[in-house]
Amino acid sequence: MAVQSLHKTFILYLSIAMVFLTLFSTPTTLAANTAEIEQRFLLLENAELIGGIDEYLRSLQELQGWLEPEDNKQQNRYNALDCWMLQADTSELLQSAIKKANTYLSKAIAEVDKRAQSDLTLCRGSFYQEASDDVSAKRDYNTALQIATEINDSKLIADALSTRASLAALKGDLAQALEDFQLAQIHYELAKAPYWVYDNLSQIGNTYRRMGDFKRALTLMTEVELFYEKRGYLAELENTRYVRALILDDLGNHEQAQEVYASLLVSAYKSGNKVSISSMLVSTADSLLQTDKIAEAKKRLNEAEPMLDPDFNPDSWSLWHLFKAKAEYADGNYISALTHIKIAEPTMSNQNNFRYLVWIQNVKAKTLAKLEDWQQAYEANVAYNETQKLLASKLREQNTTRMRIEFDAARKEVENKTLKAEQTVQQARLQSLEERKRWQAVVIGLSLILLILILIWAYRQFMRARLMHSMAMTDELTRLPNRRSIQAKALQAMNAARNAKTPMSLLVFDVDYFKRINDTWGHEIGDRVLQKISTAAQLAMRKNDCVGRTGGEEFMVVLPDSTLDSAAEIAQRLCDCIAAIDMKEIDDNLVVTISLGVAQLSDIDTTVSLLTQRADNALYRAKDSGRNCVEVER
Ligand code: GH3
Ligand code: MG
Ligand code: MG
Repeated sequence: MAVQSLHKTFILYLSIAMVFLTLFSTPTTLAANTAEIEQRFLLLENAELIGGIDEYLRSLQELQGWLEPEDNKQQNRYNALDCWMLQADTSELLQSAIKKANTYLSKAIAEVDKRAQSDLTLCRGSFYQEASDDVSAKRDYNTALQIATEINDSKLIADALSTRASLAALKGDLAQALEDFQLAQIHYELAKAPYWVYDNLSQIGNTYRRMGDFKRALTLMTEVELFYEKRGYLAELENTRYVRALILDDLGNHEQAQEVYASLLVSAYKSGNKVSISSMLVSTADSLLQTDKIAEAKKRLNEAEPMLDPDFNPDSWSLWHLFKAKAEYADGNYISALTHIKIAEPTMSNQNNFRYLVWIQNVKAKTLAKLEDWQQAYEANVAYNETQKLLASKLREQNTTRMRIEFDAARKEVENKTLKAEQTVQQARLQSLEERKRWQAVVIGLSLILLILILIWAYRQFMRARLMHSMAMTDELTRLPNRRSIQAKALQAMNAARNAKTPMSLLVFDVDYFKRINDTWGHEIGDRVLQKISTAAQLAMRKNDCVGRTGGEEFMVVLPDSTLDSAAEIAQRLCDCIAAIDMKEIDDNLVVTISLGVAQLSDIDTTVSLLTQRADNALYRAKDSGRNCVEVER
């Protein structure tokens, strides 16, 4: 029995533990999937893949297969990533990319998905820029920035600022560019997106280069290069090296620069990318021109010529003409030089690209002088001086702005650090709160288990006590109240009767010649007879009467609310009832009778035993008068 109860307790404990496990654990398969999708999104958004563009596109496609078709947020987030990957190498592709971006954007707007809205607006703007629609591009960048600021998304704020800055830099508005890049830098750091932190840093480096702060530019580009090298971002590494070579040229280290161009040209040819090849060739030519290697420069320019597309990349194309003009001028081919100047100049002046414009105007004035076209040479010189003045004032303005920006940036860095520290504190607070919650749950869980175990134990104790009590008060053979119990009931009834001033009687009976039954049929049959008498007696009594076994073959019945007469009547009924019990199943010849004595509670019965005594007296008389009868004690 002990083993069985231990087993039951164990099973119970196990079930409780299972309930808690089910309550507190999350469904693992589902969580893994959502986590995987989220992780992939972050990986792609933060450009943390190192396998280059092919790996990126493969991951993007795989992600598309994981998405829930009804999950619009997920879908929009994917669309934004897809938008940035749309091909735009030709004018047709560019137009269809803008169309697709518009479709994606309409969906995001309709679903009020601000995050996707900002990202897609920015993406569309970048296509406008590619299509030389700078007004639309700038409008989109500003809108994207506004939405990103509204929802306080650091990554998107940084993206919008950085993209807007790139356009400004391209248009020669370097002060504005630097300001946006610096701000973007802070937001990329806040967004904890290292790839974009360094991508933006390289843009800052490039802007410093264009501003003429070559030393600072070189420091930044070297830092960026180290990061790309460490991470294995090969394409980015080459771009950075290219900018570093440009800076080396600017610093007058032309030979070092040419070495870098040469190695980059090799990989450009390997990739077969015409834009890269022609850029590298044009830059090499520029460097060679600066070291007066005219023939070599011309060779590079001729190599680049068939790869240039004035419609698709007017900047490279006009630069090519500028260098070609320089080369022809150096060779004394002034007429040819003038032709190239006339092709390059409008693009340069249209774009307000003062740096190159001042350069080309200088060559133009000199060429015209060589051609002895004095009138036009004079005019070109005037224009050259004007542009130079403009450039100087622009440079001054840029320097002022730069100093202001640097001051602001330093201040913002302090703010940024404070913000980061606050974030860390907030995070720690959240973490400890969560930990506390978790512990609370554990404590509550354990307490509940403990409480349940205590309740089970208490219940078992209670049941045990009840069983012990009933065992102590019950006669084992007949299941009737035993002597102690029936005497207690008699006392209760006596007290109740006295209090309520109602009658109460006591009946005792004894089986006749029971010794003989035992002797004739055996002790076991005797036991069965006692059981039958008990059952019959109980059935014959009223609801409030109580039958008990006082010992051997002697019984007592407590009769509340009974006068002596009614008790005598009940006793007679009981006497008849027992004599009528069918004992045939035991033996045909077996007949059992009882003798009964009755007494009513009176003032002299101060104890139970006194009343019992008087009932016993009556019982003896019944025995004496031949048994199977009732005698009354008056
Ligand atoms: P009388 O009519 O005068 O009461 O005669 P009797 O034989 O009933 O009286 P006696 O007191 O001589 O015998 C009682 C017998 O009851 C003696 C005892 O062995 C028997 N007895 C007592 N308790 C039990 C019991 O629990 N089971 C059985 N089978 N017999 C019992
Ligand atoms: Mg007896
Ligand atoms: Mg007897």
